[in-house]
Amino acid sequence: MSLMSERLVVIGGDAAGMSAASQARRLKGPGELEIVAFERGHFSSYSACGIPYWVGGDVSARGELIARSPEEHRARDIDLRMRTEVTEIDVPGQRVRSRDLASGAEAWTGFDKLVIATGARPLRPPLPGIDAPGVHGCRPSATVRRCWTRCPVRRGGGRSSSAPGTSGWRWPRPCSTGATR
Ligand SMILES: Cc1cc2nc3c(=O)[nH]c(=O)nc-3n(C[C@H](O)[C@H](O)[C@H](O)COP(=O)(O)OP(=O)(O)OC[C@H]3O[C@@H](n4cnc5c(N)ncnc54)[C@H](O)[C@@H]3O)c2cc1C
Repeated sequence: MSLMSERLVVIGGDAAGMSAASQARRLKGPGELEIVAFERGHFSSYSACGIPYWVGGDVSARGELIARSPEEHRARDIDLRMRTEVTEIDVPGQRVRSRDLASGAEAWTGFDKLVIATGARPLRPPLPGIDAPGVHGCRPSATVRRCWTRCPVRRGGGRSSSAPGTSGWRWPRPCSTGATR
Protein backbone atom coordinates (compact mmCIF):
# COMPACT_ATOMS: atom_id res chain seq x y z
CA MET A 1 0.00 0.00 0.00
CA SER A 2 1.35 3.44 -0.83
CA LEU A 3 1.39 6.00 1.96
CA MET A 4 -1.38 7.97 0.23
CA SER A 5 -3.83 5.14 -0.43
CA GLU A 6 -6.69 4.02 1.77
CA ARG A 7 -7.42 0.47 2.78
CA LEU A 8 -10.82 -1.18 2.58
CA VAL A 9 -11.23 -4.32 4.63
CA VAL A 10 -14.05 -6.73 3.79
CA ILE A 11 -15.13 -9.48 6.16
CA GLY A 12 -16.83 -12.30 4.25
CA GLY A 13 -15.85 -13.41 0.76
CA ASP A 14 -19.16 -14.48 -0.72
CA ALA A 15 -21.90 -12.63 -2.60
CA ALA A 16 -22.19 -9.42 -0.60
CA GLY A 17 -18.56 -9.07 0.44
CA MET A 18 -16.99 -9.68 -2.95
CA SER A 19 -19.64 -7.61 -4.73
CA ALA A 20 -18.67 -4.72 -2.46
CA ALA A 21 -14.97 -5.37 -3.03
CA SER A 22 -15.40 -5.61 -6.80
CA GLN A 23 -17.46 -2.44 -6.97
CA ALA A 24 -14.89 -0.61 -4.85
CA ARG A 25 -12.17 -1.79 -7.22
CA ARG A 26 -14.19 -0.57 -10.22
CA LEU A 27 -14.42 2.86 -8.62
CA LYS A 28 -10.84 3.10 -7.42
CA GLY A 29 -7.63 1.60 -8.74
CA PRO A 30 -4.99 -0.11 -6.60
CA GLY A 31 -2.98 3.13 -6.37
CA GLU A 32 -5.90 4.79 -4.60
CA LEU A 33 -7.39 1.96 -2.61
CA GLU A 34 -6.00 -1.27 -1.19
CA ILE A 35 -8.64 -3.94 -0.70
CA VAL A 36 -8.15 -6.79 1.73
CA ALA A 37 -10.91 -9.39 2.07
CA PHE A 38 -11.11 -12.19 4.62
CA GLU A 39 -13.03 -15.43 4.05
CA ARG A 40 -12.98 -18.20 6.60
CA GLY A 41 -14.45 -20.79 4.24
CA HIS A 42 -13.06 -22.73 1.30
CA PHE A 43 -14.90 -20.87 -1.47
CA SER A 44 -15.29 -17.31 -2.70
CA SER A 45 -18.24 -15.81 -4.58
CA TYR A 46 -20.11 -19.05 -4.24
CA SER A 47 -23.59 -19.56 -5.63
CA ALA A 48 -25.47 -21.04 -2.71
CA CYS A 49 -28.59 -20.67 -4.83
CA GLY A 50 -27.15 -23.32 -7.11
CA ILE A 51 -26.63 -25.92 -4.40
CA PRO A 52 -30.05 -27.56 -4.94
CA TYR A 53 -29.27 -27.86 -8.66
CA TRP A 54 -25.94 -29.48 -7.84
CA VAL A 55 -27.58 -31.87 -5.41
CA GLY A 56 -30.26 -32.61 -7.99
CA GLY A 57 -27.64 -33.29 -10.67
CA ASP A 58 -28.51 -30.40 -13.00
CA VAL A 59 -25.11 -28.85 -12.23
CA SER A 60 -22.47 -31.52 -12.58
CA ALA A 61 -19.37 -29.97 -11.03
CA ARG A 62 -19.10 -28.08 -7.79
CA GLY A 63 -16.69 -25.65 -9.45
CA GLU A 64 -19.50 -24.45 -11.70
CA LEU A 65 -21.09 -22.85 -8.64
CA ILE A 66 -18.09 -20.58 -8.08
CA ALA A 67 -18.75 -17.33 -9.88
CA ARG A 68 -15.27 -15.96 -9.26
CA SER A 69 -12.35 -17.84 -7.73
CA PRO A 70 -9.88 -16.35 -5.23
CA GLU A 71 -7.28 -16.23 -8.00
CA GLU A 72 -9.62 -14.23 -10.23
CA HIS A 73 -10.26 -11.75 -7.43
CA ARG A 74 -6.54 -11.44 -6.75
CA ALA A 75 -5.90 -10.80 -10.45
CA ARG A 76 -8.10 -7.73 -10.01
CA ASP A 77 -5.96 -6.46 -7.15
CA ILE A 78 -8.20 -7.67 -4.36
CA ASP A 79 -6.12 -9.30 -1.64
CA LEU A 80 -8.51 -12.11 -0.75
CA ARG A 81 -7.28 -14.20 2.15
CA MET A 82 -9.03 -17.55 2.22
CA ARG A 83 -9.45 -19.75 5.29
CA THR A 84 -8.82 -16.68 7.39
CA GLU A 85 -11.34 -15.74 10.03
CA VAL A 86 -11.80 -12.30 11.50
CA THR A 87 -12.12 -12.78 15.24
CA GLU A 88 -12.22 -9.22 16.53
CA ILE A 89 -12.99 -5.71 15.31
CA ASP A 90 -11.23 -2.89 17.09
CA VAL A 91 -13.42 0.02 15.99
CA PRO A 92 -11.58 2.87 17.76
CA GLY A 93 -8.25 1.48 16.56
CA GLN A 94 -9.65 0.85 13.03
CA ARG A 95 -8.21 -2.61 12.75
CA VAL A 96 -9.38 -6.23 12.62
CA ARG A 97 -7.75 -9.26 14.15
CA SER A 98 -7.64 -12.32 11.90
CA ARG A 99 -6.61 -15.92 12.34
CA ASP A 100 -5.22 -18.16 9.62
CA LEU A 101 -7.27 -21.30 10.17
CA ALA A 102 -4.53 -23.56 8.80
CA SER A 103 -1.58 -22.27 10.80
CA GLY A 104 -3.38 -20.55 13.69
CA ALA A 105 -1.30 -17.44 13.08
CA GLU A 106 -2.98 -14.21 14.13
CA ALA A 107 -2.47 -10.73 12.75
CA TRP A 108 -3.96 -7.25 12.96
CA THR A 109 -4.91 -5.41 9.76
CA GLY A 110 -5.76 -1.72 9.79
CA PHE A 111 -8.63 -0.27 7.79
CA ASP A 112 -9.96 3.09 6.69
CA LYS A 113 -13.26 1.61 5.57
CA LEU A 114 -14.84 -1.65 6.73
CA VAL A 115 -17.51 -3.83 5.12
CA ILE A 116 -19.02 -6.55 7.28
CA ALA A 117 -20.60 -9.15 5.00
CA THR A 118 -20.68 -12.21 7.18
CA GLY A 119 -24.11 -13.41 6.04
CA ALA A 120 -26.74 -14.89 8.30
CA ARG A 121 -27.39 -18.12 10.12
CA PRO A 122 -30.47 -20.00 8.89
CA LEU A 123 -33.28 -20.50 11.34
CA ARG A 124 -33.82 -24.12 12.33
CA PRO A 125 -37.49 -24.29 13.30
CA PRO A 126 -38.37 -26.59 16.20
CA LEU A 127 -39.83 -29.32 14.01
CA PRO A 128 -39.92 -32.91 15.23
CA GLY A 129 -36.86 -34.71 13.88
CA ILE A 130 -34.97 -31.54 12.95
CA ASP A 131 -31.85 -32.84 14.72
CA ALA A 132 -32.16 -36.38 13.39
CA PRO A 133 -29.23 -37.93 11.54
CA GLY A 134 -29.47 -37.14 7.83
CA VAL A 135 -31.04 -33.71 8.31
CA HIS A 136 -28.39 -31.20 7.20
CA GLY A 137 -28.20 -27.47 6.85
CA CYS A 138 -27.31 -26.63 3.27
CA ARG A 139 -24.72 -23.89 3.54
CA PRO A 140 -21.89 -22.61 1.41
CA SER A 141 -18.26 -23.38 2.32
CA ALA A 142 -17.11 -26.67 3.79
CA THR A 143 -20.59 -27.81 4.80
CA VAL A 144 -21.51 -28.11 1.15
CA ARG A 145 -19.10 -30.97 0.72
CA ARG A 146 -20.65 -32.82 3.64
CA CYS A 147 -24.16 -32.25 2.29
CA TRP A 148 -23.01 -33.55 -1.06
CA THR A 149 -21.40 -36.74 0.14
CA ARG A 150 -24.25 -37.57 2.50
CA CYS A 151 -27.12 -36.51 0.26
CA PRO A 152 -29.47 -39.48 -0.03
CA VAL A 153 -30.63 -38.37 -3.47
CA ARG A 154 -27.15 -38.65 -4.95
CA ARG A 155 -26.55 -41.96 -3.26
CA GLY A 156 -29.57 -43.31 -5.07
CA GLY A 157 -31.57 -43.88 -1.90
CA GLY A 158 -34.69 -42.54 -3.56
CA ARG A 159 -35.33 -40.07 -0.79
CA SER A 160 -35.68 -36.34 -1.19
CA SER A 161 -34.18 -33.51 0.76
CA SER A 162 -35.09 -30.09 2.02
CA ALA A 163 -32.54 -27.34 2.54
CA PRO A 164 -32.49 -24.25 4.72
CA GLY A 165 -31.31 -21.23 2.78
CA THR A 166 -29.87 -18.12 4.35
CA SER A 167 -33.17 -16.45 3.68
CA GLY A 168 -35.21 -19.22 5.27
CA TRP A 169 -36.36 -22.77 4.65
CA ARG A 170 -37.14 -23.89 1.18
CA TRP A 171 -37.87 -27.02 -0.75
CA PRO A 172 -35.33 -27.30 -3.54
CA ARG A 173 -37.27 -28.46 -6.56
CA PRO A 174 -34.20 -29.87 -8.36
CA CYS A 175 -33.45 -32.02 -5.37
CA SER A 176 -36.93 -33.44 -5.11
CA THR A 177 -36.96 -33.92 -8.89
CA GLY A 178 -33.75 -35.90 -8.58
CA ALA A 179 -35.33 -38.12 -5.98
CA THR A 180 -37.94 -39.31 -8.40
CA ARG A 181 -35.58 -40.13 -11.24
C1 LIG B 1 -29.40 -23.66 -0.56
C2 LIG B 1 -29.58 -22.18 -0.78
C3 LIG B 1 -30.35 -21.72 -1.86
C4 LIG B 1 -30.51 -20.35 -2.07
N1 LIG B 1 -31.27 -19.94 -3.13
C5 LIG B 1 -31.46 -18.62 -3.36
C6 LIG B 1 -32.20 -18.16 -4.47
O1 LIG B 1 -32.71 -18.95 -5.27
N2 LIG B 1 -32.33 -16.82 -4.64
C7 LIG B 1 -31.77 -15.90 -3.78
O2 LIG B 1 -31.90 -14.70 -3.98
N3 LIG B 1 -31.04 -16.33 -2.72
C8 LIG B 1 -30.87 -17.64 -2.49
N4 LIG B 1 -30.13 -18.07 -1.42
C9 LIG B 1 -29.61 -17.07 -0.52
C10 LIG B 1 -28.31 -16.49 -1.01
O3 LIG B 1 -27.38 -17.51 -1.26
C11 LIG B 1 -27.80 -15.58 0.09
O4 LIG B 1 -28.73 -14.50 0.21
C12 LIG B 1 -26.43 -15.04 -0.21
O5 LIG B 1 -25.49 -16.07 -0.26
C13 LIG B 1 -26.05 -14.08 0.90
O6 LIG B 1 -24.75 -13.64 0.61
P1 LIG B 1 -23.89 -12.98 1.74
O7 LIG B 1 -22.57 -12.66 1.13
O8 LIG B 1 -24.66 -11.88 2.39
O9 LIG B 1 -23.77 -14.08 2.89
P2 LIG B 1 -23.12 -15.53 2.82
O10 LIG B 1 -23.34 -16.16 1.49
O11 LIG B 1 -23.59 -16.24 4.03
O12 LIG B 1 -21.56 -15.21 2.94
C14 LIG B 1 -20.98 -14.79 4.13
C15 LIG B 1 -19.53 -15.24 4.10
O13 LIG B 1 -18.87 -14.69 5.22
C16 LIG B 1 -17.97 -15.66 5.71
N5 LIG B 1 -17.71 -15.31 7.10
C17 LIG B 1 -18.60 -15.27 8.12
N6 LIG B 1 -18.02 -14.86 9.24
C18 LIG B 1 -16.72 -14.63 8.93
C19 LIG B 1 -15.59 -14.20 9.70
N7 LIG B 1 -15.70 -13.89 11.01
N8 LIG B 1 -14.39 -14.08 9.08
C20 LIG B 1 -14.26 -14.40 7.75
N9 LIG B 1 -15.29 -14.83 6.99
C21 LIG B 1 -16.51 -14.93 7.57
C22 LIG B 1 -18.71 -16.98 5.54
O14 LIG B 1 -17.79 -18.07 5.51
C23 LIG B 1 -19.40 -16.77 4.20
O15 LIG B 1 -18.65 -17.24 3.10
C24 LIG B 1 -29.93 -19.42 -1.19
C25 LIG B 1 -29.14 -19.88 -0.11
C26 LIG B 1 -28.95 -21.24 0.10
C27 LIG B 1 -28.10 -21.71 1.26
